[in-house]
Amino acid sequence: MSQNAIITLTDVNKTYPGIVPLHVLKGINLEISRGELVSIMGASGSGKSTLLNILGILDNYDSGDYVLNGTLIKNLSENRAAELRNRLIGFVFQSFNLISYKNAIENVALPLFYQGVSRKKRNMLAMEQLDRMGLADRAHHLPGELSGGQKQRVAIARSLITKPSIILADEPTGALDSQTSKEVMQVFRDLNSDAGMTIIIVTHDPGVGAKTNRIIRISDGLILPDENV
Ligand code: ADP
Ligand code: MG
Repeated sequence: MSQNAIITLTDVNKTYPGIVPLHVLKGINLEISRGELVSIMGASGSGKSTLLNILGILDNYDSGDYVLNGTLIKNLSENRAAELRNRLIGFVFQSFNLISYKNAIENVALPLFYQGVSRKKRNMLAMEQLDRMGLADRAHHLPGELSGGQKQRVAIARSLITKPSIILADEPTGALDSQTSKEVMQVFRDLNSDAGMTIIIVTHDPGVGAKTNRIIRISDGLILPDENV
């Protein structure tokens, strides 16, 4: 394991139980270094979201090892899993997952509410993140009053508010037009180069993959060897 690894998976397997159990991850070996900007690409059903959910400690795996930031993620209590997740990881989703009846600043501040931060402090910090995303003037707008790209930037601001080490994004441009996708990818690129954030983006869009610094290809539950490009 290299010293700079923030994520190391060794022979990780995952089967969804059922009448016909589905072996989705079939021995994943993967290392991601601190400060990398990578994409995970593969066909629909290849296991991308399953892998991302395991990386984000949202789901368990059956065998193998997952080491995150030096901690073996295995048999953790719910509390310990939540504590690590809240401290280390920010999530961005295709469908933004904003609360429709809360305005932009309230959505961004929400993770701090759950941490017991005072209203004054969380609004100040949320405003900082919105400003960083170029959305200070949209702070009091509801999601329904924002464009797709603005909504995703609000969601990115929310993912950053807890100062995570890693951003995990599942198809973050999947609901956006191509010009807006480019703008959102530029936001991720800036966060990676300016703030050194580790960013992992699941996508099926080759244009999005091309904007990352490494493409990890997954096919039928296995990581394909790196191409020499
Ligand atoms: P991708 O994100 O690459 O499209 P997923 O990881 O979502 O793929 O899914 C991989 C396979 O696992 C698919 O066949 C999907 O139907 C199945 N699957 C995903 N989630 C579950 C679940 N909670 N229970 C059972 N099967 C699932
Ligand atoms: Mg998926």
